[in-house]
Amino acid sequence: KETSVSRETTQSRNLYEKAKKVMPGGVTANIKYFSPYPIVMKKGAGSKLYDVDGNEYIDYLLCYGALMTGHGHPRVIEKVTEQLHDAGTPIFGTPHELEVTMAEKLVSLYKSIDTVRYTNSGMEATLLAMRIAAAYTGKNRLAKCEGHYHGGYSQVLYSVNPEQNEGGPEEKPEAVPDSSGMSSEEKPLILPFNNAGAAEYLLRANASTISAVILEPVQGGFIPADPGFLQMLRRVTKELGIVLIFDEVKTGFRLGLGGAQEEYGITPDLTTLGKVLGGGFPVGAVGGSKDIMEVSSPDGGKDILAGNSSEEGKALFHSGTYNGHPTVLAAGLETIALLEEPGALKGIFQKTMALRKGIESLYSEAGIPVQTIGKGSIFNFLFTKSPIHSHRDLKRVNMDFRKQIDCKLLELGIYTKPLNRYSMSIAHTEEDIERTLQAHKQALADI
Ligand code: PMP
Repeated sequence: KETSVSRETTQSRNLYEKAKKVMPGGVTANIKYFSPYPIVMKKGAGSKLYDVDGNEYIDYLLCYGALMTGHGHPRVIEKVTEQLHDAGTPIFGTPHELEVTMAEKLVSLYKSIDTVRYTNSGMEATLLAMRIAAAYTGKNRLAKCEGHYHGGYSQVLYSVNPEQNEGGPEEKPEAVPDSSGMSSEEKPLILPFNNAGAAEYLLRANASTISAVILEPVQGGFIPADPGFLQMLRRVTKELGIVLIFDEVKTGFRLGLGGAQEEYGITPDLTTLGKVLGGGFPVGAVGGSKDIMEVSSPDGGKDILAGNSSEEGKALFHSGTYNGHPTVLAAGLETIALLEEPGALKGIFQKTMALRKGIESLYSEAGIPVQTIGKGSIFNFLFTKSPIHSHRDLKRVNMDFRKQIDCKLLELGIYTKPLNRYSMSIAHTEEDIERTLQAHKQALADI
């Protein structure tokens, strides 16, 4: 019944018109825009979002994966309120107990993590990890993979752009800026994801300048690394004195409580976390082996580092007014507690698989080539049978039909930003999945 209603979104359009006058492009982040205007939300509850016109949506964006317990889980809200009430202030600006409790939790869950530093976003976490690696190795050029996202700053906003014929061949990619207004620092070394032979060659050829390799173990949360690619990176970085950073901002907690590193059985030197860690509040963290992390201690890890750093004993400057925010950590700790409950993760994975299977059969039965890809609680669906292992594979897929489907789905009450992946939460129900599949069926029929 619900899915046949064509939606009225006048209030969204009116607000967007106002927003355009006071914010560039009418949005607070470029990714929030889509044509003809973004839907403006007013309320969230469990798996649902409600827009300013009163329409209900089943939410698969989940704030780009951050909300793994859904919108406003009563236990998370209660802990946040309790924390604010008991402390009598949102923040102390001094050390406090939850910082230690959360760090102990991360040390127990993540094999690579001995010690932790907090930031306020995933982007700050990758930036800090990169600087820790530079301080530790005395080198400062980064290596990153094609199409991998680590935040919006100059050192990592490089990839290749095969659609425009920019970036050269996969065996020898050239760094192409993803943005205007980049700083003039040295470009990162670009590695082809899942091409172990070429990536190893490039790393060996540039080893003397490379401080770290940073990558998403599952690109964009849905293109898994081949185990052999990660094994090569672990072996070669160790041999060449390069720090291996797993950016688990997206995969952390979502593939398993111990992240992708647990699933793959590969331990990086540094791990970056964010999103789920804050239970919906802004957060980031860097964790890693004690000897490397120690460069950020107030004495610069003088004793431990002896002989490893070109600036031995000089502390790495790490600061942030809001780092380790008590309200945020209260939300994050309760979120992790909910995910640790027996069957919680398994339940999400089963629901994710049910939705993936449903989408695959629905389009296949209509004779449309389709595949779903992903791991754990995140997936994407693509209208192609060609295997997808990399950014270049992804860029070869025609997304026109997918975009039409997504826009139709929005009208039918299924929310994700067009062309975005689906993330699932403990709040999604079997009924949500059933409704989502009905909406896909209807979207396909309408198109
Ligand atoms: N790294 C990865 C893998 C991410 O997915 C993101 C966010 N999409 C970031 C870093 C940046 O995190 P934030 O948006 O919290 O700055």
